[in-house]
Amino acid sequence: MKTLILWFRRDLRLSDNPALRAAVDVAETVIPVFIHAPEEEGQWAPGEAARWWQHESLASLADRLAESGSRLILRRGSTREVLADLLAETGAEGVYWNRLYEPALVERDRSIKQWLRAEGHEARSFQAALLVEPWAMRTGKGEPYRVFTPFWRAFGKRGSPRSPRRKPGTLRPATNWPRSESLQALGLLPAVRWYPRLASCWQPGEAGAEAALTRFLDRGLSSYHEDRDRPAVDGISRLSPHLHHGELSPFQAWQRVSERLAAQAALTQGGEAWLRELVWREFAHHVLFEFPHTPEAPLYERWADFPWREDHQPLLRAWQRGETGYPIVDAGMRELWHSGFMHNRVRMVAASLLVKNIRAPWLAGARWFWDTLVDADLANNTMGWQWSAGCGADAAPYFRIFNPFTQSRRFDGDGAYIRRWLPELARLPDKALHAPHEAEASLLQAAGVRLGKDYPRPVVDYRESRAAALAAAKQLR
Ligand SMILES: Cc1cc2nc3c(=O)[nH]c(=O)nc-3n(C[C@H](O)[C@H](O)[C@H](O)COP(=O)(O)OP(=O)(O)OC[C@H]3O[C@@H](n4cnc5c(N)ncnc54)[C@H](O)[C@@H]3O)c2cc1C
Repeated sequence: MKTLILWFRRDLRLSDNPALRAAVDVAETVIPVFIHAPEEEGQWAPGEAARWWQHESLASLADRLAESGSRLILRRGSTREVLADLLAETGAEGVYWNRLYEPALVERDRSIKQWLRAEGHEARSFQAALLVEPWAMRTGKGEPYRVFTPFWRAFGKRGSPRSPRRKPGTLRPATNWPRSESLQALGLLPAVRWYPRLASCWQPGEAGAEAALTRFLDRGLSSYHEDRDRPAVDGISRLSPHLHHGELSPFQAWQRVSERLAAQAALTQGGEAWLRELVWREFAHHVLFEFPHTPEAPLYERWADFPWREDHQPLLRAWQRGETGYPIVDAGMRELWHSGFMHNRVRMVAASLLVKNIRAPWLAGARWFWDTLVDADLANNTMGWQWSAGCGADAAPYFRIFNPFTQSRRFDGDGAYIRRWLPELARLPDKALHAPHEAEASLLQAAGVRLGKDYPRPVVDYRESRAAALAAAKQLR
């Protein structure tokens, strides 16, 4: 009777789970295990919001396994020691898992595989989190990609991604289940109970991912290409946390969208735009895998000595609290604090204000996002911040600095997004809402807004700070 350990990590699903599928195909008994070992993730152990998600998602996975006749064994401690104990306790012949690509985890997994094999155990890992392995993509010169468009073209030439794997039926229970810790004992939930509001915004777990995907296919896909930049419109998929925690595989998402595209020609523009975004995720992982220094340092070394503003701390705090005096940015930062999420357009504008106008280091912004986003993902977050700071893959030229007021008028023209997150400005008319500091005093008075009291004046002057940023970049060259 063959027994295998299925090591769950960020693949918290039963459908399209190649490691689980393979284990069930060859073993009579499969022991599903999750090991909490945050210190093995180096500088980037999951942040607070992502840990809340992980807690909920593990609860959901445990329920699904129980429905299939199995269990989820939870342990904490050094992965190697936990696996050694479990192998001894269960008599399992080996361990199967799906691959992850963050630098610290690549190292850890490599050493676990070597150790298992040296001990005479079977150790197999599978491709599940990405449509294409990051090392499989190479330019004509045999180098890694640093620009998205050629990556996208090369991706297109590879043909369609494989079909998702079937969910196993009933799982045979172990005769003697090993001991499991309680979910609470893992200590994933932050000590300060700020997180209950997240539960009103999200449904972590495989069923929640399925519901979010179906909802997007029915309601968002057809107009995604038009609505994806408008933060007040329900026009995006909000699948990023589900994809990050592996409750939905990119293969499942790709197939479901492609099926709709094939069935309804009207979906072509929206569907193709969405699949392209999904490939940005692949690109970000490719860049992280090939350039593992990038979570802490710029992709391009010449940006390493950028002269950040030394007295940025109080400005950084104002940005974190959504008190910059730039309404679109403050709305985004409050959305983030409330829901663990921020719309992509607003992420770009908020990041630009921090790194270019406030001139605080991009890593300070990346760390704040890391702790507050439910979808905090080392590849996507690093790419987003380095793109915004102009020092990363495919970054726009440095001199293209977002004007938050223009962005706000363009993408939130009627101010619905700002009014939702900044109720103190809700009574301002549209023409005053995007830049209250420029509004006539009578408009502010009529709306009951006292600048500096009810809502701050801009913490930095846009034009002056823009000029200072350009001068700083010039100095670097
Ligand atoms: C400064 C900054 C930080 C970011 N940090 C993260 C992060 O920590 N985690 C994260 O998942 N995304 C991050 N992004 C990318 C993007 O903002 C989110 O993926 C997107 O907002 C998620 O919403 P959605 O699922 O509705 O996306 P949709 O618009 O529905 O897109 C579908 C999927 O494509 C992928 N995707 C979309 N845009 C991008 C992108 N620019 N880069 C990489 N993948 C993308 C995501 O997996 C997303 O779920 C960041 C962007 C910026 C500018």
